[in-house]
Amino acid sequence: PPAIFWLTRDFRFSDNAALAAAARGPVLAVFFIDRLLMAQGAASRWRLERGLRAFDAELRRRSGQGVLILRGEPDQLLPGLAAALDAAKVHQSDWPAPEMRVLQARVDAALQVGGRRLVLHPGHLLIHPRLVRTKTGGSYRVYTPFARTLRGIGPDQPGASAPERITQAAPPAKGLALENLNLAPDLHGGRAVLDRHAVPAGEAAALARLDAFLDRVTDYETRRDRTDLEATSGLSEHLALGEISPRSLWALARARGRDTPAASAGVEKFLSELIWREFAWHLLIEFPQMASAPWRPEWRDFPWQGDSDQAEAWRRAETGIPLIDAGLREMRVTGRMHNRVRMVVASWLTKHLLTDWRLGLAHFQDSLSDWDPAANAMNWQWVAGCGPDASPFFRIFNPETQAERHDPAGRYRQLWLETRAADYRATLPRSQRALPPARVTLEAGRQRALDAYASFRQTTGAQE
Ligand code: FAD
Repeated sequence: PPAIFWLTRDFRFSDNAALAAAARGPVLAVFFIDRLLMAQGAASRWRLERGLRAFDAELRRRSGQGVLILRGEPDQLLPGLAAALDAAKVHQSDWPAPEMRVLQARVDAALQVGGRRLVLHPGHLLIHPRLVRTKTGGSYRVYTPFARTLRGIGPDQPGASAPERITQAAPPAKGLALENLNLAPDLHGGRAVLDRHAVPAGEAAALARLDAFLDRVTDYETRRDRTDLEATSGLSEHLALGEISPRSLWALARARGRDTPAASAGVEKFLSELIWREFAWHLLIEFPQMASAPWRPEWRDFPWQGDSDQAEAWRRAETGIPLIDAGLREMRVTGRMHNRVRMVVASWLTKHLLTDWRLGLAHFQDSLSDWDPAANAMNWQWVAGCGPDASPFFRIFNPETQAERHDPAGRYRQLWLETRAADYRATLPRSQRALPPARVTLEAGRQRALDAYASFRQTTGAQE
C-alpha cells in the first residue's frame, strides 16, 4: 500500500527506519515549511536548506523524483495528501523536541479523523530514554552514572536502511521549487558569507567526514581543546539534521577502535562526547522547559541582568577580549564555533557581564548551523551554573589564560580578528548605532560575579 514519508530532521537513507518502512511500497516523501521550521534560527535554516538539497538529489537518483516541498502546517496538509494517495500511514523519524511532540499529537489526531495514523520511528538517539534509568527508576541528573548505565546496556544497533531503488507515488499537489526556496531571508548579507565558508552537506559528506576524523582520532583526546587545530570531528551539524544517525556513528567508530588499537582511547573519548549529546536530549525530554527555565528552580532568583549595551557588544563581537570576539566572529562567518570557545564566550556573558543566559542561548540559536535544542539549552545552563550537573558558578573562565593554553601561537585569534575581518564585516547590518566602550575588566567582572553569587547563596540557601 502507498505510504507517506514525512521528512523532518532525518536527511539520510541509511539507518532510517521511517523511510525504510514507508518505502516498502510506493512512497511519497514530503517536507513542510511550517511554523516550527521558521521559528528556528536563521543559520540553522540556512544549513537545513543545504541538507534538503543533498537529500533531494539522492532521492532523485534512487526514485527519479524529488521531495514534495509544501508551505503550511502538517496537521492541515497531511490528511488531504494521505487521502489523495490512499495512504493509511504517515511515517516519521521521531525528533523528540517538545514543540515537535505537540505537532505530532496534532497530526496524529487529524489523521485519525480519516482512519489513518502517524507512525514514529526511533533513530535520533542512541537508545530509548525510558531504558536509561536509575536503580529506583528515576531519570539521571548527573552525566557520569548516566553514561555508565548507557554503556552497560549498549546503544541500539543501526536499524533498517532505505532500498537502493525507491518507487515514489505521483504527488497529488504541486510543490515548491528547491532552487529558489531561500529558507533564511533574514540572513541578508550573511548568506553569501556562510555560503563561502560552508562545508559539504548531506549523508555522503557526513560519512566522509567521519572517515577522515577516524584517521586522526588517536590525537582527539589530547588536541580536542586546541582552537587552532582541526582536531574534533565537525559532525555536529550532520547530527543536528540526522544526516548520520548516532547509532551508525557509534558502530562505525567502535569498529575502528577494535581494528586499530592505537585509536581506541580516542574513540572512547569521542563516544563519551556523543553521550553528552544523548544526555542533553534525555534531559530535554524530562524537562521540556529547559530552554527557558533554570533546571534548578532556586536559580529563578539569581540576579541575572536583562539586555544591555554590553550584551549587544557581546553579540556584535566587540567585547575587546580577543578570544571572545574571535569565537563570536567565527560563529557569524561559518555558523560554527569551537567548543572550548563556546564555553569561554558563554562564561563571559553570564558571569563577567552577569547577563541572563537565555539571551546568549537565543543568539546561539540564531547563529549556529549545528543548532540543537537539547545541546544548546543544556550547555548554556551548564556554563551558567543553573543546570543539572553544571559547572559551579564560581568557576569563571579567564579568557586570557584560556587563550594562552588553547591558542598558544595566537593563530585562531589572528584568523578571525584579522585574516577574515572583511568576511565578518560583510555579515553586519548596514547601519548600527555606536555602543559605549566596554567597562568591565577581567578582574572587576569576576569579582562582581562572585559577589552576586555569594549574596544569592546567602538569601536562597542555594547549593553549589
Ligand atoms: P566533537 O568533539 O567531534 O564531538 C562529537 C559529537 O559529540 C558532537 O558532534 C556533538 O554531537 C557531541 N558533543 C560534543 N560536545 C558536546 C556537548 N558539550 N554537549 C552536547 N553534545 C556534545 N552542540 C550542538 O550540537 N548544538 C548546539 O546548539 C550546541 N550549543 C552549545 C552551546 C554552548 C554554550 C556550548 C558550551 C556548547 C554547545 N554545543 C552544541 C556543544 C559542542 O560545542 C558542539 O557539539 C561541538 O563543538 C561540535 O563540534 P564537533 O562535532 O567537532 O564535536
